[in-house]
Amino acid sequence: MQNFTFHNPTRIVFGEQQIAGLAALIPDGARVLLTYGGGSIKKNGVYDQVVAALDGKVWFEFAGIEPNPSFDTLLQARDLLKSEQLDFILAVGGGSVIDGSKFIAAAACYQGDAWDLLCGKAKVNAAIPLGCVLTLPATGSESNGNSVVTRYSTQEKMAFSSPLVYPQFAILDPTTTFSLPPRQVANGVVDAFVHVMEQYLTYPANAPVQDRFAEGLLQTLIEQGPQALERPEDYAVRANVMWAATMALNGLIGVGVPQDWATHMIGHEITALHGLDHAQTLAIVLPALMQQQRRQKRDKLLQYGKRVWQLVHQDEERLIDEAISHTRAFFEQMGVPTRLADYGIDASAIDTMVERLVQHKMVKLGEHGDITPEVSRVILQSAL
Ligand code: NAP
Ligand code: FE
Repeated sequence: MQNFTFHNPTRIVFGEQQIAGLAALIPDGARVLLTYGGGSIKKNGVYDQVVAALDGKVWFEFAGIEPNPSFDTLLQARDLLKSEQLDFILAVGGGSVIDGSKFIAAAACYQGDAWDLLCGKAKVNAAIPLGCVLTLPATGSESNGNSVVTRYSTQEKMAFSSPLVYPQFAILDPTTTFSLPPRQVANGVVDAFVHVMEQYLTYPANAPVQDRFAEGLLQTLIEQGPQALERPEDYAVRANVMWAATMALNGLIGVGVPQDWATHMIGHEITALHGLDHAQTLAIVLPALMQQQRRQKRDKLLQYGKRVWQLVHQDEERLIDEAISHTRAFFEQMGVPTRLADYGIDASAIDTMVERLVQHKMVKLGEHGDITPEVSRVILQSAL
């Protein structure tokens, strides 16, 4: 186990009817900017619940934060926040609304070109406080310090991370997820699954407690994910998926162990260039990366195959083959295709993806830093 500091400051308020208690979580006297996406919260009643719970507060709203939130849209929200002198952000939605709101919070306190915060030119030194109501279990954004933003004019999807943008609170009411379309249920389960894999499928670090947290989350997602598709209004299933997705990326399982994240970084370039959903890119890249990195990840691949999929084989190479094929089959079972060709992307697209990885300094990816652009190319080619 490596040395670490762990501090997650987000207060999780979990369960049915919890939105009603929202006002008590927001500081007295706050001037609130309510942020949300394209309107799903108006259709499923979450907006009405939030508005009722904000009774007595001063609040403004900014709607229209897109999936893969747009830099330009978020700057409009920042401008509204500043012109109305708002000092608290309430994000209501999925990862895109929450990530976008973190960026608004940081950009509002930054004097220069806000892109600096995303391209690594500047660090976040201050941010407007925020809280959130999560409606899509997937990203863990509700209780982490990460944010991913897309600048559509240059087809760049970039991330920043800061302890200053952890939400102060996150309300997780599983009933808000009943209205998710199957595609987003599947995306959420796949994203959470890959978050766990990025922190688990590396090399052994004498951290069995971390391994078993991760394996428990993976098994839960494998078991409950398909049930969420079959029985959308099963509260217990939704509750377990929701908490598993939060636990997958709230920092807990990643401390003390090596981390990978190459699948995410390669996936971001695919989304930026071709518009695929975040989880679709992960379902494409992860099985190909597991195959390409099977030597470096050998011990953990064997452990994963045995413990998560209960595979038994004398022949270790066959066991690894099956661990990879089970992973791919799970994504497909959730309804997320795992090949670039399934999304109409062919070999001619790979050069640009590799160029973008270089441009964004994603040249030493993975837990060993050995996923160079040429290795990324091999991974993408085998994902065709
Ligand atoms: P999302 O982009 O926030 O939302 C996807 C779609 O689901 C939207 O069209 C949204 O509609 C709809 N939706 C959300 N909740 C709904 C509900 N309860 N009922 C019906 N429809 C609903 O999806 P996401 O997967 O949560 O977030 C993806 C983004 O997060 C990507 O940009 C990804 O790169 C990023 N990400 C962040 C982290 C992190 O650590 N911060 C980790 C991984 C990925 P509306 O717009 O109408 O609400
Ligand atoms: Fe993700």
